[in-house]
Amino acid sequence: MWASLISLVSLGGFAAATCIGNTHLERRSEGGEAFGYGFDNGPLRWHALSPANSICATGKHQSPIDVDSHIQNAPKALNIRLTDRLSGTFVNKGTTLQVTTAANSSQYIDLSGTRYNLKNVHFHTPSEHHLAGEHFPLEMHLVHQSANESLLVLGLLFNIVASAQQSGGLLKQLGDYAPRLTSEGVDITEKELDLGSLVKDLLPEDLGRYSGSLTTPPCSESVMWLVARKPRNIDVASYDKLKKTMKFNSRFAAGPPDSDNIVHMLANKL
Ligand SMILES: [Zn+2]
Repeated sequence: MWASLISLVSLGGFAAATCIGNTHLERRSEGGEAFGYGFDNGPLRWHALSPANSICATGKHQSPIDVDSHIQNAPKALNIRLTDRLSGTFVNKGTTLQVTTAANSSQYIDLSGTRYNLKNVHFHTPSEHHLAGEHFPLEMHLVHQSANESLLVLGLLFNIVASAQQSGGLLKQLGDYAPRLTSEGVDITEKELDLGSLVKDLLPEDLGRYSGSLTTPPCSESVMWLVARKPRNIDVASYDKLKKTMKFNSRFAAGPPDSDNIVHMLANKL
């Protein structure tokens, strides 16, 4: 499966990486027309920007989706080892703000006997996934990769609260840095990122699990998703700073796994 995905990616490439930052897919990408979220380069046209993106318009296991009661829970064999000692670099990637983890980072998720190492943390406003039909102001993606280059993404959605005391540690740090990350390519290195407080109480039954895709080009499938069924909190001041820098960067929700691709379906009905 990965062999075919990788050959697709190498055909055309893409310029502005989001979900694939610091993974094997980003390292193998080059050239191509940059995607975005605007009128001419947004999600409805991603497939037209490069032959490598064709699955964005044809895939039947695309992300995001609505995580409702039909989506099964994560398996019991789950161990989330994401802590408050994360070393990484905040960077403006053009299409998102991202924390790229240090090469020697030991943050990981063990799922059903496979270890997935954390490669990047990035954000979308508003949320991409929905929770039982409801969308939220912000979504965080924690992108992990196994030794055999399988991808697992943990998705956390956020509600806005008044007080910074109620806000997760990393979100406050990101809000503080966002005004300095206004240009693509600007980066800031940090050694004590607080990830642990956002995930410390997550149990398998708190997470919806499904097989989906990257939510950005090339929309590669066979990505394992874990999505928290309850939103976390971000304070309004941090959220405003993050949103002002990052702007709108959210893909529409696809149908449930195995349903017709929305772009393909609409094209056939026009
Ligand atoms: Zn993402």
